[in-house]
Amino acid sequence: MGQLAVHGGLPIRGNKPWPPWPETDRDTEAAVLGALRSGRWAISWPSLGAPALERQFAQRFAEYCDSRFCVPVDHGSSALTVALQALGVGPGDEVVAPVQTWVASASAVLRLGALPVLVDVDPETGCLTSQAVRDALSERTRAIIVVHLGSTIADLDGLVDAAASGGVPLIEDCAQAHGARLRGRAVGSWGTVGAFSFQNGKVLASGEGGAVVMADPALYHTAQQLRADSRAYRSDRPTPAGEMEIVEIGEAMGVNYCLSEIQAAILLDQLPRLDGQHERRERFAGKLEPGLASLGDFGPVPVPAGTDRRSIYEYGIRFRPGTFGDAPVDRVAEALEAELGRAVYPPDVPLYRSPLFRPETTPRYRQVWRDVARKRAIGRDYPSAESFRSTTLLIHHSALLGDDEDVADVLAALEKVRDRAEEL
Ligand SMILES: *Cc1c(COP(=O)(O)O)cnc(C)c1O
Repeated sequence: MGQLAVHGGLPIRGNKPWPPWPETDRDTEAAVLGALRSGRWAISWPSLGAPALERQFAQRFAEYCDSRFCVPVDHGSSALTVALQALGVGPGDEVVAPVQTWVASASAVLRLGALPVLVDVDPETGCLTSQAVRDALSERTRAIIVVHLGSTIADLDGLVDAAASGGVPLIEDCAQAHGARLRGRAVGSWGTVGAFSFQNGKVLASGEGGAVVMADPALYHTAQQLRADSRAYRSDRPTPAGEMEIVEIGEAMGVNYCLSEIQAAILLDQLPRLDGQHERRERFAGKLEPGLASLGDFGPVPVPAGTDRRSIYEYGIRFRPGTFGDAPVDRVAEALEAELGRAVYPPDVPLYRSPLFRPETTPRYRQVWRDVARKRAIGRDYPSAESFRSTTLLIHHSALLGDDEDVADVLAALEKVRDRAEEL
């Protein structure tokens, strides 16, 4: 094998394109055009006689998540905010969350004037552990946020127990885990509330979008109002054409976090495709993983016992420390990216040192972010998050919609960069 592509050598990957994301076809186009031409682009607009597309999607997505209710929102970030707010989190409260996650899991807490207490994670999966949660619980803890990261599921048994022993609700941030299932039940239905994102890159996408799912009718009633300026769907009778489908309630003052009807049309088209995509990605992983094992040094991010199905959002390849000599993971990722002609990247920088997590830059957050609170939030060491980040490489799920040739290219790139690591 020749020089590394990152140094100008011939890349492993030729001109073959990687699979596109998102996947759309004529049906998607028809769905979007239908919504467009209907003239009803918002749930806060007179009914056409049939339930809003947003409401139809909510029902299907609730079923998909083994949940009784679903409230769609405009972003995953809003989903977390609505979840926390519906559970009564506010100023003076603390919410325990993992340090290894997208910044929204923590900024949602700050938006409510509460303090995110960021704790270390499992070094193999990057997910919250029940021990770290128990160590962080205090008188002020009002909720726990668990993130099912990348391609795995957090230790839900342990975390449900830890939440119960602390007497606080568990919020599952499922933005990376739509459709993952553990012992016969979907993620999002294990905690009190599940929060999802439908941003462009997620496994279920509408450009921007999100949803909360829950079993409790009172929480549902509140969450609806929190996302539609204190309004909720009328439940007294079907809405005749020309009348408003949402009505003023005013028991929980909200803002406008509504998903548009155009986005709901896309989601109604995309949801039925998701299980097939899960299968295709699992087939890819099923070919990749024996290859990783025979290369030695590499393996997948583990899943907990009892996993019926993982949802592969970012496929994590773990490597033994020293596999690439002294090269930092960012440099290794860069070299792989050059070989493969597609993004390969390490996990997010842990929030305590992330350039995206800077509460001191926003007046509203600065109020919470005083010295003592800051120390409480991030004043600890995070060796396991750092270890996870420095020995994990991620590939976006769209690559796993590829074929056997694509599997072979990933393996060949790993082998080439490993064997020439001293050149990095
Ligand atoms: C994507 C993501 C979010 C936020 O979703 P948006 O729709 O981008 O607001 C929250 N948490 C996690 C873990 C995510 O990956």
